[in-house]
Amino acid sequence: MTNPYRHIPSLDALLARPDVLSLITQFGREPVRDEARDLLNDIRAEIRTGAAPPDADAIAARLHDRVRVHLAPSLIPVINATGVIVHTNLGRALLSEAAQQAMMTAARSYSNLEYDLSAGKRGSRYVHAEAMLTRLTGAEAALMVNNNAAAVTLVLRTLAAGKEVIISRSELVEIGGGFRIPDILSQSGAALVEVGTTNRTLLADYENALTERTGLLLKVHQSNYRIIGFTAEASLQELVGLARRLPAPIPVVNDLGSGTLLDARPYGLAYEPTVQECIAAGADVVTFSGDKLLGGPQAGVIVGRKEIIARLKRQPLTRAFRVDKTTLAALQATLAAYLRGTATEEIPVWRMISASQETLAQRARAWADALTKQGVRVELQPGGSAVGGGSLPGQTLPTTLLAVRHSHPQRLLAALRADSPPVIARVQDDQVVFDPRTVLPEQEPVLLNAIRTALSLLQ
Ligand SMILES: *Cc1c(COP(=O)(O)O)cnc(C)c1O
Repeated sequence: MTNPYRHIPSLDALLARPDVLSLITQFGREPVRDEARDLLNDIRAEIRTGAAPPDADAIAARLHDRVRVHLAPSLIPVINATGVIVHTNLGRALLSEAAQQAMMTAARSYSNLEYDLSAGKRGSRYVHAEAMLTRLTGAEAALMVNNNAAAVTLVLRTLAAGKEVIISRSELVEIGGGFRIPDILSQSGAALVEVGTTNRTLLADYENALTERTGLLLKVHQSNYRIIGFTAEASLQELVGLARRLPAPIPVVNDLGSGTLLDARPYGLAYEPTVQECIAAGADVVTFSGDKLLGGPQAGVIVGRKEIIARLKRQPLTRAFRVDKTTLAALQATLAAYLRGTATEEIPVWRMISASQETLAQRARAWADALTKQGVRVELQPGGSAVGGGSLPGQTLPTTLLAVRHSHPQRLLAALRADSPPVIARVQDDQVVFDPRTVLPEQEPVLLNAIRTALSLLQ
């Protein structure tokens, strides 16, 4: 009987292979050597339990896979063919060209991040973007933090720690990723006072719950769910009226979640209050995300009354939530597009929302033609894209889908995910479908190639 270990290369021989040398150049000698040693140990253990000894090429291929899993950067680009525009799992908003450039510039060069150029001394990072935000929203002052969860936490902690916060039972939502309004309230040291019922909350419910310990009235956007049927809610205006009538007025805080500056109705979506409307309605503080419908970088934006924003800026927790310079740069560039009135052309989220049905149908048809020419059987199907990111739940934008029929749709999805770059698609009526709305034009050739490759691998 021949020795089954005879063909297992030595560690040095494996590391000397040209295809392994390229791994060493990319990932470093020591990490690759450690991976190779562990792999050879694994293979010997497999042979002991009866596995056939692999040849040297198979061993090198396994080393490549292993190094990729353990040593290559895990955050990589993917193609989003799901049609969900603000896809939380796929990185939410894509940035405009101007925002990308601004991030690069801020990263490459020193800046006046915390430097007052006219006085020649220390300044504040919180002045950047503030004038743009107040102009766009009508608020007196603004502050940016890392994300909207931080914004809500900071506001509640500063304004309501040790006090009571009144909120409707219909707004005690979980946004996702474990962000639950009741938990945020208890984290910030405020006592939750829930009023009304799941479907109906009246102004009188808030009024009856007021005590001398009430710190603020909180209104939270229901975000990713909707209550329909027999419903009632107190409007923001009504809450503001109530809070102002008190002998000692208290603030009304509105967590808008997505926080749009544009009316989405012209694109066939339902009415969503804009940030500027909430400020005009009298909200003392409005919080929203930078990377949902605003279409900018991950950030939390707080706009509202000057004295409240000033208190927030002084609060020690703000330091823990402070934004990075590249984020500030991207946000400024994003806001500049709103000021110019070119947001729907420049900002990818709004470009995708406003893409015309004809354009989408044309793109899907061009995909279908290209694939059909190459012998791939596809169909076109009407479908719906979603805005996502907890905004406008249940609402869809009409689109044209490229549909591929396969006996194992889940396997086709998995093969697409295994490609480089991975393609994320979805299943509708047992077919794997691809929505042009969220696929960037420059990704089209790669996408079509991925579909072809995945199908041929599964044959
Ligand atoms: C998304 C959302 C949040 C959390 O915002 P992040 O920017 O993800 O931290 C908070 N409140 C509401 C209503 C939301 O929709």
